[in-house]
Amino acid sequence: MTTKNGVINDGRQMFLNGKLMEDFTDYPVLANTLKIIQNYYLLQEQKDEHSFLDNGKRYSTTFLTPKSVKDLKLKHKIYREIAENSYGLIGRGNEFLNSGIAVLPYYSDFFGANEWTNFSENLKNYAAEMKAKDLFISHALQNPQVNRALTLHENLAAGEVFSGTWVKEKNSSGIIIQGAKMVNTLAPFADELLVYNVPGLQLGDERFANAFSVPLNTKGVKIWLRKPTAKSDYTVADYPLSNLMDESDAFITFEDVFIPWERVFVEGDVEKSDQFFPKSGLFVHTAHQDEVRGLVKLEFVTALTVKVATALGLTSFLRTQEVLGKLTRNLELIRGTINWAEDSGQMENDVFTPNMQALLAVRDILPEMYREVIITLQEFSGGSIVAIPDVETFNAYPELLESVLNSKLISAKERIVLLNLAWEIAGESFGSRQQTYETLHGGNPMWIKIMHWQHEDLRLGNQMLDKALSDGLKGFSK
Ligand SMILES: Cc1cc2nc3c(=O)[nH]c(=O)nc-3n(C[C@H](O)[C@H](O)[C@H](O)COP(=O)(O)OP(=O)(O)OC[C@H]3O[C@@H](n4cnc5c(N)ncnc54)[C@H](O)[C@@H]3O)c2cc1C
Repeated sequence: MTTKNGVINDGRQMFLNGKLMEDFTDYPVLANTLKIIQNYYLLQEQKDEHSFLDNGKRYSTTFLTPKSVKDLKLKHKIYREIAENSYGLIGRGNEFLNSGIAVLPYYSDFFGANEWTNFSENLKNYAAEMKAKDLFISHALQNPQVNRALTLHENLAAGEVFSGTWVKEKNSSGIIIQGAKMVNTLAPFADELLVYNVPGLQLGDERFANAFSVPLNTKGVKIWLRKPTAKSDYTVADYPLSNLMDESDAFITFEDVFIPWERVFVEGDVEKSDQFFPKSGLFVHTAHQDEVRGLVKLEFVTALTVKVATALGLTSFLRTQEVLGKLTRNLELIRGTINWAEDSGQMENDVFTPNMQALLAVRDILPEMYREVIITLQEFSGGSIVAIPDVETFNAYPELLESVLNSKLISAKERIVLLNLAWEIAGESFGSRQQTYETLHGGNPMWIKIMHWQHEDLRLGNQMLDKALSDGLKGFSK
């Protein structure tokens, strides 16, 4: 299967509502979501800038290795245009990991070799194949929270075989993986799963210290989907977002999954496993894509809030104007910081690399800004949002309901769809999941702040402070 040709019924084992899913097309929201994701491929056919020539062949621009600020700006534009297809609500489409795959070959030397394979070469070949076939890669990092008081190997010794992904056996052809990863978004749609760890493994965790890639229809890989947010009994006008898309998060288990050495990138090395995300270049380049996508989403929900406030006749109140000004101000701060991340980028490993401190600042603050929009939307739409009958009822009693819902500012039908959009974002499980995603998908917000403080360049501030301190110290007579 490939996501590009949409043949998702490829033998992958997906479980929902007590059943093994036999046919993807039985689930309309998944079929709709697939179409939205496939816009990534359509855009390459429709717009020249979405692909580039390399040695006579064309590739998605998401795989372009940035060599200048101009390249980063081009990639920003491409990320934005792809994200606009889902209003930024599909977080981890093809472009997310492609942004990192584009730089992998330049960072792969760090990963070295073992007696059976050359990890550095594997990464280079993997990146080349993903780029050539334009496969959709998703990723799974987080280990299940089995018992936080124990290390991974202690959990395993206690019989917890699903506490992470661990090597059960290895031989000259590859490794056998057993275990689980806690969250993977888009597993039903992706071709390949890239599995690795976030930092935090301990000495003794060597069996868990691995990174590899596996096709999602490989024997032994099982995808356990969370409950969908769609309400298939209702129309798209009732649920204009959740009935159109669900990027589906899933728990992934591995039972005796064979991974050939060619697809193994780290094995048995705690330090390299801990460093996989930052040292592969994936962290900073996926962050670039992710923050552009986050901005698109913030723009969408901010515009929705302003429209709701206008349609409900709230914008003549000074306080409403002030609150909306706070939301629109936030957009400029995010835009400016992403642009600064690009403009202040530097060459690293022969790759033009955005400023991670600026990207981390966006990653940290954007979820807070997102929450501010949601609270505003809830407050402003108040009772109106819960006073919307479903569309079939409206169709059955159009005259009465039309006159009840019409206003000078907005027609009844527009009011229904607009407030249903607001309800999806601010009230429904779709919106709650979107908010949770923004808060946590980039990692625990506490670590982001700590990482930011540890890496900030405070030289200019310190120079002034040193002067102020030394001037102050002159005040002592002895
Ligand atoms: C919708 C969604 C989609 C996701 N998709 C993916 C995906 O596709 N692939 C993937 O790999 N991951 C994915 N993630 C997982 C994401 O990477 C993790 O949720 C994130 O890294 C946080 O880890 P956790 O959920 O285990 O949170 P926890 O580690 O349980 O942290 C939860 C909260 O507990 C507190 N806390 C935790 N540890 C400490 C500590 N040491 N000190 C003080 N406070 C602490 C903090 O408040 C923290 O925010 C997704 C998550 C969500 C919500």
